[in-house]
Amino acid sequence: MPKTYDPYENVVAVMEEAMEKGGIDKKMFDIIKNPQRETKVYLPVEMDDGTIRVFEGYRVQHSNIRGPFKGGIRFHKNVTLNEVKALATWMSLKCAVVNIPFGGAKGGITVDPQTLSKGELCRLTRRYTYAIEPIIGADTDIPAPDVNTNAQTMAWVLDTYSMLHGKPCSGVVTGKPIELGGSKGRNSATGRGIVISTKLLLKEHGKNLEGTRVAIQGMGNVGGNAATIFAHRNACVVAVSDVSGGVYKENGLDIEEITEFLDGGQRLLKDYQAEGVAHISNEEILTCDCEVLVPAALENQITEDIARKLKCSYIIEAANGPTTKEADKVLEDRGIILVPDIFANSGGVIVSYFEWVQNIQELTWERDTVKEKLEKILSTAFEEIMETSRKFNCSLRMGAYIVALSRLIHTEEIKGLFP
Ligand code: GLU
Repeated sequence: MPKTYDPYENVVAVMEEAMEKGGIDKKMFDIIKNPQRETKVYLPVEMDDGTIRVFEGYRVQHSNIRGPFKGGIRFHKNVTLNEVKALATWMSLKCAVVNIPFGGAKGGITVDPQTLSKGELCRLTRRYTYAIEPIIGADTDIPAPDVNTNAQTMAWVLDTYSMLHGKPCSGVVTGKPIELGGSKGRNSATGRGIVISTKLLLKEHGKNLEGTRVAIQGMGNVGGNAATIFAHRNACVVAVSDVSGGVYKENGLDIEEITEFLDGGQRLLKDYQAEGVAHISNEEILTCDCEVLVPAALENQITEDIARKLKCSYIIEAANGPTTKEADKVLEDRGIILVPDIFANSGGVIVSYFEWVQNIQELTWERDTVKEKLEKILSTAFEEIMETSRKFNCSLRMGAYIVALSRLIHTEEIKGLFP
């Protein structure tokens, strides 16, 4: 029987390998391996039909040694404590690899948000905020959107938290609506970061975006924005998918038309029809004929078996944890280059950092300033990762983990232990 996938086990195993490869002193590793705090909450909500349901929610605070805990809140039917633990750990590594002054955290509620009305979702979000209020705050732990949450969800979190504190507390969340102190460019930031990462990698290989064949698994906030920006930069987006399946067109899809059709998630790709467009399965989107594959959905998508069937040359991880540790080995053997999640999808948290900086200084930056600063941080981090992977003769994932872990461990060392 195949081993069941556990995202937390996966991230710990990858960290252990990087500690070894990078020759990092292991004395402090157990501190980094374990989160600082795990909170589980039970959330009673009155449903529209008058019944009461109790939902389970989590907030895992992995590390705050480099700055306040930071990370999104996910609504998904498969959310578990170990998934949230893994996601919180990835946030600490992500903020460390791009060198922004945040730690890592993640929240989640086990719920299928598609089955709830807007009112029910609002009440659930507010109850969750109330439950975690004692441990969040602009200088302690700052939530943001993640899978199935968005600026509206953040507006509810912000309002609930502000009500409890008797004053507006805009810095408590990022990824909020611009009217409530959100940053220009935050909504598309993760997708933009994916395109920048792709551009940096292709440049390294003497190529550019124009005409490059891209396949994207997932058309949520990250995949959808990445698809639009890829299309604007004249890349050839040949395949995209959502929960209902994928669509493929050999000489490129009309991304603008598809985005309009999907109408922010109101419709599904299985119902999209256009000339020359074929409907394909989830496995087919991953294994289709393309140069760049962008998994922008959930964890555990590129397994060992899928890795053997891939036709792409490059993978840019837009989701957190889409590739298993076993699959990484297959990719290395096959010479498929992968840009790891903790760097590739860091555009979101980088612009979250800009949003938080604007909030505490009561300033607003122009969109071009945000884009410019984002590109600069990503380019610097990419150089560091490339250099490290050359130095240790290892994959970009290992290079990124070595950079991040060295930073985290060095901070632990100079800070020392309390008491
Ligand atoms: N949820 C996003 C991530 O996984 C963004 C987190 C944030 O902005 O805090 O990186």
